Amino acid sequence: MLILMSSDHTKKQLADVLARVKKLRLKPHVIPGKNSIAVGITGNAGALDKALFEGLPGVADAVPVTKPYKLAGRNFHHGDTIVPIGPYGLGGPGLVVIAGPCAVESEEQLIRIARAVKKAGAQLLRGGAYKPRTSPYAFQGLGKKGLQLLAKAKKETGMPIVTEVLDQRSLDEVERYADVLQVGARNMQNFALLKDLSKLRKPIMLKRGLSATLDEWLMSAEYLLSAGNKNIFLCERGIRAFSDHARNTLDLNVVPAVKEISHLPIIVDPSHATGVRARVAPMARAAVAAGAHGLMIEVHDRPDQALCDGPQALHPDDFAVLMRDLGAIGAALGRGLAAPQA
Ligand code: PEP
Ligand code: MN
Repeated sequence: MLILMSSDHTKKQLADVLARVKKLRLKPHVIPGKNSIAVGITGNAGALDKALFEGLPGVADAVPVTKPYKLAGRNFHHGDTIVPIGPYGLGGPGLVVIAGPCAVESEEQLIRIARAVKKAGAQLLRGGAYKPRTSPYAFQGLGKKGLQLLAKAKKETGMPIVTEVLDQRSLDEVERYADVLQVGARNMQNFALLKDLSKLRKPIMLKRGLSATLDEWLMSAEYLLSAGNKNIFLCERGIRAFSDHARNTLDLNVVPAVKEISHLPIIVDPSHATGVRARVAPMARAAVAAGAHGLMIEVHDRPDQALCDGPQALHPDDFAVLMRDLGAIGAALGRGLAAPQA
């Protein structure tokens, strides 16, 4: 339910509405607007009766909200969310590019690649310290040592760090080192983890589940928003479909769909969405044209030796060419690469 206050409502009338919501053991969210104020209500299991609020002094209208993702949807939120990450704002007109290796493998590997992606213009550095692998025999990541190496790379380059949080056990540790905590596709519906992440205030990147619908994805974002973390953004990384020519199928259609119904920023990961190096740049360019707020791209300077996802990693030289193309496509649409804010 969304309660629209009349433009001449008094403070007392608003306070009375809030008190009535709380008396029903529900949560009010005051939403300031251009002409007046609205009050969103969460916590109700079923539909609320309009009559509970309609006749109250100062109330202009009570509008049922049919979508279950109230905090992630646009009804309770004016404008677009911009997530502050270091000196950058993700979700504004400037494109934010996250780049780096799939996994942190060694100090030399990480620093070499971090310097290269920074030189090419990437703003944020990625690298997995805890890796979710299909096979238990595959490289699982360096763990805490990997986080410490990310901290070194940050010191060296000044780039904020994006890294995956795999479970609740390592959450505190990952939070200490990460500027953005990544929730991987396989964890999109790990609701216990999402609830704990919602208590943080650090930015969270929520990747789309392997076969998640848009509604399921936004419900997971709702978990992240439910305990007050407002710094949430989404990452489309391809879904399972019947095509067998690529690792996944990039659902670019979801970019404008998300922007229509949610205020949360959305970025695209063409690396996992294709799994094929030669297709990463074309899909990255298409994602910018489709309106994505940013990209996440895997880069490795020795991809044939990579411990994880070598076949989809761009060489730093190819990444640099792509960055120039992205800048040009963005500029044609009135959106360049995001610059640091004061
Ligand atoms: C990753 O970004 O390193 C990753 C594991 O991606 P996903 O969760 O989308 O498979
Ligand atoms: Mn990867």
